[in-house]
Amino acid sequence: MKPTDISTPDHFHRVVDCQWACPAHTPVPQYIGLIAEGRYAEAYMVNWEANVFPGILGRTCDRPCEPACRRARVEKEPVAICRLKRVAADHKGDIAGYLPERTTKTNDKRIALVGGGPASLTVARDLAPLGYQCTIFDGDPKAGGMMRTRIPHFRVPEHVIDEETGYVLDLGVAFRGGTRIDSMKTLLAEGWDAVFVGAGAPHGQDLALPGRNEAHANIHIGVEWLASIWFKHVTRIGKRVVVIGGGNTAIDCARSARRLGGEDVRMVVRSRFGDMKALAWEKDDVQREGVVICNDLVPREITHDNGRLTGVNFEPVTSVFENGKRTLVSAGPCNISPAMTW
Ligand code: SF4
Repeated sequence: MKPTDISTPDHFHRVVDCQWACPAHTPVPQYIGLIAEGRYAEAYMVNWEANVFPGILGRTCDRPCEPACRRARVEKEPVAICRLKRVAADHKGDIAGYLPERTTKTNDKRIALVGGGPASLTVARDLAPLGYQCTIFDGDPKAGGMMRTRIPHFRVPEHVIDEETGYVLDLGVAFRGGTRIDSMKTLLAEGWDAVFVGAGAPHGQDLALPGRNEAHANIHIGVEWLASIWFKHVTRIGKRVVVIGGGNTAIDCARSARRLGGEDVRMVVRSRFGDMKALAWEKDDVQREGVVICNDLVPREITHDNGRLTGVNFEPVTSVFENGKRTLVSAGPCNISPAMTW
């Protein structure tokens, strides 16, 4: 038997399953213990050290820590690790005394950070206290990137984003909003000591279906549509809406559609209900708001009348699993469900 390797923190992370499963290796037991003692500010700071945006993550994290939680071995549900992060964030009070002080010393190194989302803000959070002069560039007017513009505010209120991006900017980080970087050559010519590119993935995935281009006026791409709502380019939607997809973005779109005037909003998903990518509580929320989830259907065609969207043609499928790999097998002919026509 090989001796235990304790030369890296990995060993200690692994011993705590939830901490190991968290991509940021947040010390989960430590902060939950602090919450149990009512020490919310300290619990928040344990999170802040590890994942920078506890208030936002407490509302949005995909929480891979929870399936790893050992509590689920003796009880039906794991500890609500993610929601407890929000508890710490909502009850922390004034944490000014816990945050690093804005440094007056500089090491004369200038860092340009492209993109004002979580990646650049995290780099700036770590470098600014060391004396680096960090400048973040973003095409949007305010810091936060996709956290601000592509997550609906009924899930993350804007004041939470202002607060948590503010903690980073207050460390002495310059933010140049409304400044889109289109040329790396021009940026590099400005003599920065280092450039960090954290541009994110702000574009969604399109579907190359017959009829898609013809009916484009009434077809929207998930994250881009959510951004259009934030920028107030979109303020309403038709009464009948089909959302294709079963992840958290699809859920956000369906819930947003309900708020913008959608009366008959349906999510159509190719996987089974239990296999959907969206989290269980997201599925509960969307159904509670009156959205119907239709599973085991694959979109095959957008139908239209001279470019006016009239429906979506779906093929029923069955999920067949072999060696853990899923294959979708046709379960019948394609048809235009009356529920999916206009
Ligand atoms: S909720 Fe997210 S950030 Fe928090 S411990 Fe779990 S995986 Fe990590």
